[in-house]
Amino acid sequence: MRQKITGFHLDREGHWVADLECGHRQHMRHEPPWMVRPWVLTEEGRRSRLGVELDCKRCDEAGREVAEAVREALRAAALTAYEEGGLEDAEARTPTAELSYWLGRAYWGQGLATEAAVALVRYGFETLGLASLRANCFSRNPSSRRVLEDEDLEFFILERGSP
Ligand SMILES: [Zn+2]
Repeated sequence: MRQKITGFHLDREGHWVADLECGHRQHMRHEPPWMVRPWVLTEEGRRSRLGVELDCKRCDEAGREVAEAVREALRAAALTAYEEGGLEDAEARTPTAELSYWLGRAYWGQGLATEAAVALVRYGFETLGLASLRANCFSRNPSSRRVLEDEDLEFFILERGSP
């Protein structure tokens, strides 16, 4: 996920670290000849990089974690429904629902979205008896939506409602 640089600080070893808008950090080392970033050594250079977007792998990992947990919950719910009388019966019971989530940036990376998503998926299938559930990631950044699509979520969702 692309995140903007909001500031810089020095770590304990004297290396520059970029602060990202998501709350994650990324080292911006200047160690020639391996890493050449002379701009990081001057205040002017650092200021010129504010607002520049970097790829945040930790954000991507968090998104994948949610998608994986939701997929597992859907798979388990589909299996339960099948064992309890088949998917045709489940399909006849109730229509579909949509699950979306939005989490304040300050609370990212604590597994909160994952936990909530799993609980809601279980509630939808086991208590409400939904035939299918659609999951969406609500974010200003379309790349987190892509994470869900990459994980074949749509496939599992449709499978739940298929005869
Ligand atoms: Zn991040």
